[in-house]
Amino acid sequence: MATEQPIVLVTGGSGLVGQAIRTIIEQESNAKYQFIFVSTKDGDLSNPDEARQIFEKYRPNYVIHLAAMVGGLFRNLKYNLEFLRTNLAINDNVLSLAKEFRVRKCVSCLSTCIFPDKTTYPIDETMVHLGPPHHSNFGYSYAKRMIDVLNHAYSDHFKNNSNDYGGSDKLPIFTSIIPTNVFGPYDNFNLEDSHVIPGLIYKAYNAIQDAKLKNSNTAKLLVFGSGRPRRQFIYSLDLARLILWTMENYNEIEPIILSVDENDEISIGEAAQMVADTFQRSYPDIRMEIQYDTNYSDGQFKKTASNAKLRQYLPEFHFTPMSDGIRDTVRWFITNYDVARK
Ligand code: NDP
Repeated sequence: MATEQPIVLVTGGSGLVGQAIRTIIEQESNAKYQFIFVSTKDGDLSNPDEARQIFEKYRPNYVIHLAAMVGGLFRNLKYNLEFLRTNLAINDNVLSLAKEFRVRKCVSCLSTCIFPDKTTYPIDETMVHLGPPHHSNFGYSYAKRMIDVLNHAYSDHFKNNSNDYGGSDKLPIFTSIIPTNVFGPYDNFNLEDSHVIPGLIYKAYNAIQDAKLKNSNTAKLLVFGSGRPRRQFIYSLDLARLILWTMENYNEIEPIILSVDENDEISIGEAAQMVADTFQRSYPDIRMEIQYDTNYSDGQFKKTASNAKLRQYLPEFHFTPMSDGIRDTVRWFITNYDVARK
């Protein structure tokens, strides 16, 4: 008789990261698990009754918890209270239901932008709580940090009640991952509220359309700031593979940073050049010109994160070259222009 597949519930399943997991599952035709991807269409996870209905319907064995109220700088600044309360509620509901439904492992998502504002670099997993986050997104950051606190509280609870869970070798694991800046298909490309890569892609796309309309052979890609700040970007499909690895293999309670190597940190200017080059190849008759608007502030110069812990586990993991990830994201955006979030 065939054994039943364990059920993996992916919250935030319609978003950038959730869709990347779906793509990898489909590519690798992973029949070991049954994946269920949920979004707000299935219920509001900040509402305890709606969250419970989802768990009752699917009765998961694993949870990959991605759902969150997310947004750019200006939305965070304006709605810190909502970011704090909504995300606290989502996380408390999901984790308490994961315990109640005896999930074997719950992997939740933190972010490098929740680290202390004043810190030393590179940042690592031990530094999450070592000082206040940047004031602009303190609501989002403290709600995310509380996931780590909850994970430790649940872990203590499981250890202190190990008999209820069939002994110490069968205890559930509640843990978390910390991705750096993610980009890829299904991102939010909105010009006012997007992260840097999808914002550049949409701007470059508009510049090309504008040039075509005006019969011009030059398209201007405007970059906010000097282009000098440096960031580590992770392609969403690489992140998806690493999240699936975490679900199957990572058994620590402490978070793990999922990031490219420190040497792969690139400047915003270099990222903009890759976006421009990608469009240039598709539209050889139009020359892409990058311009920097230094009236905009640069933000933090660097936020380098160490992936040493990940490298101890997976020294050979191959990250998609940034230019290939950008090329595939641009292709996806052009092909799916009508349905892309923007
Ligand atoms: P998206 O904004 O692309 O997706 C958010 C997801 O959460 C959507 O599926 C959305 O559903 C769902 N969601 C939001 N609010 C609720 C709610 N109240 N109830 C149920 N579902 C809800 O986010 P990403 O994929 O970019 O991010 C996934 C995770 O990764 C988040 O936890 C985020 O904090 C973290 N992260 C992201 C980074 C990035 O660069 N993007 C960097 C580091 C961490 P719907 O589509 O229906 O609205």
